[in-house]
Amino acid sequence: MAGRVRQPLLAANWKMNPLAAADAVELARGVSRAASEHASLVEVALFPPFPWLLPVWDALKGTGVELGAQDCFWERAGAFTGEVSPAMLAGWCAWVIVGHSERRTLFGETDEQVALKAAAAMEAGLSVIVCVGESEAQFAAGHTEHVVSGQLDVALRRLAASGADRLVVAYEPVWAIGTGRNAEPALAHSTMRLVRQRLERAFGPRAASVRVLYGGSVNAANVTAYAQLESCDGSLVGGASLKAEEFSRMIAAVAAASGSPAT
Ligand code: PEP
Repeated sequence: MAGRVRQPLLAANWKMNPLAAADAVELARGVSRAASEHASLVEVALFPPFPWLLPVWDALKGTGVELGAQDCFWERAGAFTGEVSPAMLAGWCAWVIVGHSERRTLFGETDEQVALKAAAAMEAGLSVIVCVGESEAQFAAGHTEHVVSGQLDVALRRLAASGADRLVVAYEPVWAIGTGRNAEPALAHSTMRLVRQRLERAFGPRAASVRVLYGGSVNAANVTAYAQLESCDGSLVGGASLKAEEFSRMIAAVAAASGSPAT
């Protein structure tokens, strides 16, 4: 059986949860058992809120599970009240997410700001998940390809191909996030193929190192359908990543799918 070219990644975006540090630590410990068991087949990264990064970092020591932040600013240091720089994160985190649709829609982040964040995070040595995806109205109007290519191209203009192995693109249709309406795998597949074409256009052969994820209402019941797609190198998971038992089953499912031929 042919193995996959890129190791699958399951990224857990906890958003503004859980409320207590002790619960964050318990969730991290709960997930790390399954993650350690399947570490040779699936990379797992947890993205807690900023205040829980340190306790979760401590809980994950020696487990092989990686840690990331949900956002960062593009400047290194200075008078930017409330912001956190990639250089500060680099001491604790391997990863950062930029351009999540909740940042774009609730906080007005632009494609250019997302690109600046991605470039600064790369510069600081972090691995970066750049999120792209169309809104419900854009989807209904048939503008998915135009929107996703536009968001991605702006980010790629600021990124060097030499960082390709630290870059992940998460395709997350906004209408599928937190709604229980996951995009049909065939539909997600066609957009993830488009993402890979844009990556190849920007990075040439080095694009082969970039992983492309699907995100949007992925859970234990549907994760295998995405993991089996040739275009899909894993998932960015919100709600289902807050349940240690369910997320553990997702890790096992992606591990199982990683050994089967891609479709
Ligand atoms: C997300 O927040 O990136 C996400 C995909 O959320 P959910 O899995 O809850 O749809």
